[in-house]
Amino acid sequence: MKKFRRIGILTSGGDAPGMNAAIRAAARAAIARGVEVYGIRNGYQGLIDGDMQLYTNPSELRNIINRSGTYLYTARCDEFKEPEGMAKAIQTCVDNQIDGIIAIGGDGTFRGATDLSNHGIPTIGIPGTIDNDVTSTDETIGFDTAMNTAMTMIDNLRDTCESHARCNVIEVMGRWAGHIALRVGIASGAAAVAIPEIPFDEEATIQKIIEERKNGKRSFIVVVSEGLPGYAEQLAKTIDARTKALGPKYWVETKFARLAHVQRGGTPTLKDRLLASEMGVAAIDYLFEGMSDIVICKVDGKIGYKNIQEALKVDRMFKKKMTEHEYDALSDEDKAWMEARCEKVLGDMKRLYQIANEIS
Ligand code: ADP
Repeated sequence: MKKFRRIGILTSGGDAPGMNAAIRAAARAAIARGVEVYGIRNGYQGLIDGDMQLYTNPSELRNIINRSGTYLYTARCDEFKEPEGMAKAIQTCVDNQIDGIIAIGGDGTFRGATDLSNHGIPTIGIPGTIDNDVTSTDETIGFDTAMNTAMTMIDNLRDTCESHARCNVIEVMGRWAGHIALRVGIASGAAAVAIPEIPFDEEATIQKIIEERKNGKRSFIVVVSEGLPGYAEQLAKTIDARTKALGPKYWVETKFARLAHVQRGGTPTLKDRLLASEMGVAAIDYLFEGMSDIVICKVDGKIGYKNIQEALKVDRMFKKKMTEHEYDALSDEDKAWMEARCEKVLGDMKRLYQIANEIS
């Protein structure tokens, strides 16, 4: 088995609370196994520029498990997608005896990890994104904290909605996925939740708000995923106009709020720190076992991995972005597990959506 001299760790793409716990876990696990670690700053850009710091002692990664953002910073780097950029990144690895990389981020980061693996640098991805849009894992690092942050912010909005007898339509993050919106909607007692994966009944929502106002309900919360661009703002205007037309007694004054990047910060929850620690250590174990081009996953409480190309394919299948040609080229075995996985994830969403409606 290959003997590792040094490895590099980087965070890339959008930041997520808990990334620091993953950096710390992976770095400390590597050092504990006698391997030195380069913390690479600013994602793949730092690999191109050789912007990094060597850690040889676990005490050099102190006081970061509780911090949000990413200690190694992050950047988007288009140069890395070009052959010249890749050549510079490989040269940095060769010059500094970096025999493997741990890349923490989302699907763009994983594409970069595959490229590095194909160029002879074993690379392992760890899913760090608040959006939870990596279909092959049940949860990604940062998802839990982002949901808790959104829930707290919505609780605050509810207080003022109740005082003023208003409705607030709140757009929450999640990129093209409704995972955050769905769970936060339930947890904040929303009157309705709108997500991209399941058709939304706008008319039923408006009728429900009107009926409940007639029954004396003062405040309403509606949660909308940013995966429905512009919809939250439009829905707020519609609820306001439709209820205003009923006269002052039944007018539900409706405001729009976008929580935006506030959801990307904040102290990581215990769940995210734990997930990040488990995934960070697993990434090192798999790397040192000789694996490459994989992403760490957690399914049904068990840590494992998926090949990155397979993980990207199941994402495309879930998002209905897979071409017919790509689908036909899949082996029967791949089709079976990918379809089962998509069914499971969508099934869970439908179940939660039904709960959201039933108890709204
Ligand atoms: P995320 O990892 O959160 O999805 P991005 O899509 O911005 O974020 O990707 C992060 C970085 O990964 C990019 O800035 C780029 O350096 C690298 N990357 C993205 N796509 C590719 C690709 N197709 N090939 C190589 N590197 C890529």
